[in-house]
Amino acid sequence: MGMDVGKVSKGIKCSVVGCEKQAYKSVNMANIRQSEFNLPLNVSRTRAYLCKEHYRQFKRHTKKLKKFDKWRRMSLW
Ligand SMILES: [Zn+2]
Repeated sequence: MGMDVGKVSKGIKCSVVGCEKQAYKSVNMANIRQSEFNLPLNVSRTRAYLCKEHYRQFKRHTKKLKKFDKWRRMSLW
C-alpha cells in the first residue's frame, strides 16, 4: 500500500494533541497506523493533519518500518 499524503489548505492546525502549529501535510490515517508514529492525534476523519515538524517525525517512523520490512524479507532467504 502506497503513501497517501496530500496538501493542506491554510488555517488548518496540526492534529497532534497539544500542537498548535499550522498543518503542513495531510496523511491518511491508515498510513499513520502502519507506521510507528504514536503521538496522540485529535482526528475526526480519515485524515490526520501534521505540521512540518510532526510530518518529519512521521516520515522518520515510516522509514524505520520500511527498513524493518526489508530486513524481514531478506531473512526469509
Ligand atoms: Zn504538530
